[in-house]
Amino acid sequence: MELHEYSLLELSERLRRREISAIELTEAVIQQIERLEPQIQAYITLTPDLAREMARQAQARLDAGEWNPLLGIPVAIKDNISTRGIRTTCASRILQNYIPPYDATVTARLKQAGAVILGKTNMDEFAMGSSTEYSAFHPTRNPRDLSRVPGGSSGGSAAAVAAHMAIAALGSDTGGSIRQPAAYCGVVGLKPTYGRVSRYGLIAYASSLDQIGPMTKTVADCALMMNVIAGKDPLDATSVEVPVPDYREALRADVQGLRLGVPREFFAQGVQPEVAQTVRRAIDQLADAGAIVEETSIPMVEYGLPIYYILAPAECSSNLARYDGVRYGLRVGAELGHIGMMERTRAEGFGDEVIQRIMIGTYALSAGYYDAYYLKAQKARTLLRQEFDRAMAQFDALLCPTAPTPAFKIGELISDPLAMKLMDVLTIPVNLTGLPALSVPCGSVDGLPVGLQIIGKPFDEPTVLRIGYTYEQLTRQ
Ligand code: GLN
Repeated sequence: MELHEYSLLELSERLRRREISAIELTEAVIQQIERLEPQIQAYITLTPDLAREMARQAQARLDAGEWNPLLGIPVAIKDNISTRGIRTTCASRILQNYIPPYDATVTARLKQAGAVILGKTNMDEFAMGSSTEYSAFHPTRNPRDLSRVPGGSSGGSAAAVAAHMAIAALGSDTGGSIRQPAAYCGVVGLKPTYGRVSRYGLIAYASSLDQIGPMTKTVADCALMMNVIAGKDPLDATSVEVPVPDYREALRADVQGLRLGVPREFFAQGVQPEVAQTVRRAIDQLADAGAIVEETSIPMVEYGLPIYYILAPAECSSNLARYDGVRYGLRVGAELGHIGMMERTRAEGFGDEVIQRIMIGTYALSAGYYDAYYLKAQKARTLLRQEFDRAMAQFDALLCPTAPTPAFKIGELISDPLAMKLMDVLTIPVNLTGLPALSVPCGSVDGLPVGLQIIGKPFDEPTVLRIGYTYEQLTRQ
């Protein structure tokens, strides 16, 4: 096995034992990027010189006797997470040349731990999409099958980890954007509880739904990343003052006596029968290992998508109002006066999907329609959350597929926006409730990876990780 193929956990142990150096490791990953990036195109911006410098600094810290699991580990960051001095585009023309003057809290925490930044990964523009095809720059290919999408919107992060072009990555998840690409590329992805990880410096799409989370090769790696990024941040008022456990302690291969619910609605909703079978097999394995598995029902799940596609556009129409060509980002038509300039800048700077969502959101929020759309969607969101609360009260976690099908072909759904949106039908309800959820690879259909989704109680990432870890250990070759 080559260096870049190891997990974060294994590499951090080897760094600690001084069997390898951070410089050697970073070089190995950069070489892998040089080999595969021309086909896969997981990155928007690569920072090899910075990575080499950070690796040198990490090695100096290791040489001085310091150690933590992230020290010297090469990571990738989704391009909607601010990185001081490194271009952060959100895969949009409107931010094509934007260089943030500050770090997101998660970026600062990774740096503090001594992680090495390889670059910024591709995504759907402003995180709106499910395939990374809505990037203003280029699509990303799925490393498991180059004719297919890696999922989205964190498709670049998922592809980078799957292709060993990063040891771990950060993504963001508003309606499934960590979990669905993780499932499509055969990696692990965790959407933490809303409020568990600071959103400061995450370029906002829909602020009541957005969460940053890790995308990794294994569940243990996910726990190690969480140890660094989780916690209250005074710079994000929605981050919560709940004590952060040591997530490594959750890594026990044991589900004995855990009560796991299987909501039947998550196996309808257009789920391909082979995907449902694969996930049910995984659930059976957990039952064989001692978990108590029971069917349950959350009928409101059916309304997840319609609720989301009112609320997310409404929030995005407000969040994206700041891109007007005045302070930063693209400016077109300066000669047209300030209204003309704003119109031209936004028309040329945003892609069609983003424009469509801004229009839908503006409509849903406008006087006369607010009650019928936005307010109604908020009420329905509350009902959905109450149903989840009732179901969760009986169980330690819920199990279901992450996505209804494996990765689709590049171009296959681009002219069918509804079909594309249906790819998030199993992940969106979780964002609406704020709960944590993990996607773990659980086999394949026609050679393409399938994800098992494990949904937990608020701030109970440890149980979610424990179930994922147990499954991983049971099925390890
Ligand atoms: N695919 C969903 C959307 O287009 C979710 C995206 C996300 O989680 N950022 O909005």
